[in-house]
Amino acid sequence: MESNRGSANTETAALDDLPPDMDQALRDNTAEQLAGQWTRVRNRLQQEVGDVEYRTWLRQIALGGVDGDEVTVHLPTRFLRDWVRGHYADKLNALWQSENKRIRRVDIRVGGVAGVAPSSLGDSDDAVLPAGPDLTSIAPKFPEARPEVARPEMAAPLDTRFEFDSFVVGKPNEFAYACARRVAERPSSPGFNPLFLYGGVGLGKTHLMHAIGLELSRRDTAPIQVAYMSAEKFMYRFIAAIRSQSTMEFKEQLRSVDVLMVDDLQFLIGKDNTQEEFFHTFNALVDVGKQIVVSADKSPSDLSGLEDRLRTRLGCGMVADLHATTFELRISILEAKATRAEAEVPPKVLEFLAHKITSNVRELEGSLNRLIAHANLFGRPITLESTQEVLHDILKAHDRRVTIEEIQKRVAEHWNIRLADMSSARRARAVARPRQVAMYLAKQLTSRSLPEIGRKFGNRDHTTVMHAVSRVTELIEQDADFGERVELLRRMLES
Ligand code: ADP
Ligand code: MG
Repeated sequence: MESNRGSANTETAALDDLPPDMDQALRDNTAEQLAGQWTRVRNRLQQEVGDVEYRTWLRQIALGGVDGDEVTVHLPTRFLRDWVRGHYADKLNALWQSENKRIRRVDIRVGGVAGVAPSSLGDSDDAVLPAGPDLTSIAPKFPEARPEVARPEMAAPLDTRFEFDSFVVGKPNEFAYACARRVAERPSSPGFNPLFLYGGVGLGKTHLMHAIGLELSRRDTAPIQVAYMSAEKFMYRFIAAIRSQSTMEFKEQLRSVDVLMVDDLQFLIGKDNTQEEFFHTFNALVDVGKQIVVSADKSPSDLSGLEDRLRTRLGCGMVADLHATTFELRISILEAKATRAEAEVPPKVLEFLAHKITSNVRELEGSLNRLIAHANLFGRPITLESTQEVLHDILKAHDRRVTIEEIQKRVAEHWNIRLADMSSARRARAVARPRQVAMYLAKQLTSRSLPEIGRKFGNRDHTTVMHAVSRVTELIEQDADFGERVELLRRMLES
């Protein structure tokens, strides 16, 4: 793309960044059409989930409005919002899309009042209405929302749950956390502008950005204008401005903030014209000493598809990554979240979850919330058994397939014996004991039957495997040191 292209050209060209169909969408979503679509979506939802579920979770759902390809719906409490997000988001998406194929996302938020006009659609994420009488008693307790913080008109609201205080710090995220803190304390310091946060899904990028915004907006000193938005929103706002011939206003608004945060920048890949606009905004702000914070799923150098000059500038400040979580971090996060929700969750259950749900924090949090909601709903304590039952579907998806060969290899390494001895006839204790442990782990971690396991250990009989399992179980109870070794092996194999 030519860098000296006139801005009018860029702006017309930016319409090409829109997915096909959207053109129509921006004109088509009149209030009446939306209201009709919403009624049909609700009715179908009720039919699909049944009356009881609908009344418990969905009755209070209200239409917020539509913005670009995104529909916003509101629920009166955070708990309900989380529940609906966790359980009905896909269904809502599908139903909306079948009503209006231009809708690509349904944003489920707290706030709003039933029947809000689409035009007043809500950035009112934090307005909290009382929960319906059938829900107050079972909702986990989340801290009360604070009043919404002041922000420029165009920016998305900051979620007051995403404070620095609620962010659990561990090895994988301590650097990113420290950088975010630093920017919140002293924005625009040399070396920290822009701050580029990157990492996989659900590892806390958005959380940290909101935390910076919240911290800055609450400063006692001169008020700081913070604007947070996703890259996607950035594009839709830009395009909407072009359509309504108000790009000057758009640019002025953007350039008037002190801190601009743009989340999920990878969205701009392939959207060359919006990228160009972002690049100009970026330069205009950095040149006058304003702070930029950006997040993406990859480092600037790996974001192929972004223009080189933009990538170069993005990498000029501080680049911090959020690594995949460790077992220890997952435990700390679960403990913190359980405490916050004032729920009693046995340590064994927390450990179990931290072992099993390793993908990201969002899923970990979702699983815990589901457990707590379930326990409250049925008035039963949380146990390992109920956990397995309630999270059956999630756990199944996370079951990592460990092979017997892997188990044999790890166990042999651990006790420093030859791999061949897993199948040999040698009966010396130094060899026989590790072999028994490997059989035990094969039984625990794979779905193989006893005869199948026996065959893999030099064609041994299934009774030999059975004996190994009960012997190892006994030893784990009698000998703490041995128990710890087996536990360690299990963890290694599972992660
Ligand atoms: P990302 O933007 O990287 O995809 P989010 O910031 O949206 O991830 O995080 C997903 C969820 O996990 C959020 O609810 C967030 O509060 C939570 N979360 C992520 N990391 C942490 C952490 N270190 N401590 C507490 N909560 C976390
Ligand atoms: Mg995010």
